[in-house]
Amino acid sequence: MIAMPWNRSILLTGLLLATACARNPVTGKSELSLVSEEQEIALGRQTRDETLRTIGEYQDPEAQALVRRIGMEIAKASERPALPWEFHVIDDDQVNAFAAPGGFIFITRGILAHMNSEAELASVLGHEIGHVTARHTAQQVSKAQLAQLGLGVGMIFSSTVREVGGALSQGLQLLFLKFGRDAESQADDLGFRYMVADGYDPNGAAEMFRTLERVSARAGQRLPEWASTHPDPGNRVAKTQQRIDSLTGTGRNPKTLKDNEAQFVRMLDGMTFGQDPRKGFFRGNTFYHPELRFQFAFPEGWKTANLPDQVVGQSPEGNEVLQLQAAQGTPQQVAQKFFQQQGLRAGQVTRGTVNGLDAVTGDFSAQLEDGTPIAGTAGFLALGSHTYALIGFAASSQGRSVSDRFGTVLRSFRPLTDPALLNARPATMHSVRVPRDMTVQEFNKQYPSTVPVEQVALINGVDGPSSTLAAGRIAKQVQGGLAKQETAPDGAR
Ligand SMILES: [Zn+2]
Repeated sequence: MIAMPWNRSILLTGLLLATACARNPVTGKSELSLVSEEQEIALGRQTRDETLRTIGEYQDPEAQALVRRIGMEIAKASERPALPWEFHVIDDDQVNAFAAPGGFIFITRGILAHMNSEAELASVLGHEIGHVTARHTAQQVSKAQLAQLGLGVGMIFSSTVREVGGALSQGLQLLFLKFGRDAESQADDLGFRYMVADGYDPNGAAEMFRTLERVSARAGQRLPEWASTHPDPGNRVAKTQQRIDSLTGTGRNPKTLKDNEAQFVRMLDGMTFGQDPRKGFFRGNTFYHPELRFQFAFPEGWKTANLPDQVVGQSPEGNEVLQLQAAQGTPQQVAQKFFQQQGLRAGQVTRGTVNGLDAVTGDFSAQLEDGTPIAGTAGFLALGSHTYALIGFAASSQGRSVSDRFGTVLRSFRPLTDPALLNARPATMHSVRVPRDMTVQEFNKQYPSTVPVEQVALINGVDGPSSTLAAGRIAKQVQGGLAKQETAPDGAR
């Protein structure tokens, strides 16, 4: 996530605030709660609808069914069996899992790709279920609502952005709620208990934390959300080991519990791996969208991100921001709506063409909610059945150069015609029975992957290229995908 001024604050309007004391289902203690169970469920449903609308469910009935089966087994045996539990695999390559209030659990195809057994999956589902049963999700909402009370409503840019296309809306913002360390370790505790009760080997939890630790260590380009919101996996490996050790005293032997490694990895066969280029991708600072058939370029050196319903960029200093979204209507209609917003002063608005596309462009000035005056440029371009809104702004003291820079970005927007890019397909995972003990390096020589060998080690749950894959195990290989582009350092191309 790139920190944007408009999604820093959580908007929870339209919710009735009802103060109540609720009993925590897990601890049995009563605690202050602003959210009733009905509201919790309503918020969860809203989050689900927006998550599925913007990120989308991953189309794989087998994976969905497995996640739903294990999730429901655990949830039905939990302290809150009557919630309308739902489990969804979403089409996102980030290593992430999250719980929305009311029992709506989401796990990404990205985290599935890094798992090697049903036991690991059960540990993640158990942890997320724990956030719901212990009402962490509801408590976070209470805090968000409380915070909201102290905020002004004059947040021009959040309303602008929602008007134009939907940005990170209320439901999605809930996904980025962070839980405290205590809540995390309580969820770990509950998750451990739940997975063991469901018959899964708790060593899967330790394996999962080790993998998360490796993912964090490798996070150069994209910081995995789950790892960033979940503190210190290393410490959690040790804690999990303590929990496993204490199990032996209770007469439960982890060795008699199931992990279902081989069938799990086989289930991943054919699954999309890494980003799906059909949904847009960057090469250097140029963004290509094969399905929507357009491309445009951010200034050199900018931080960029392809979010579910917008593409955003931020200058290295963080004081200039630019975003692209699809909007309903003709460029004239969308421009009119944008420039006529309350609190926004439009400069000259021009109708013309950009690279042969109908376009309306203009400068504007406004104020952010904290009073910072800003100046920006907005362009609305028609391509296919969509109008694209490209909006850039900076603190107005930046002056003329900003408008020129945004103008350059605007003029880079054009139809994508390169057949190689239009036909880009994602990489997929394939399961291979390891014929003899071999290192990841040897495995990769015999069964080459289109991702770096370090990543092959990572998704197979081992430390690195020199780690051994045991004979007979089912390992993962990655095939196909968009050929990696050699990028020169410092953006020099
Ligand atoms: Zn958590």
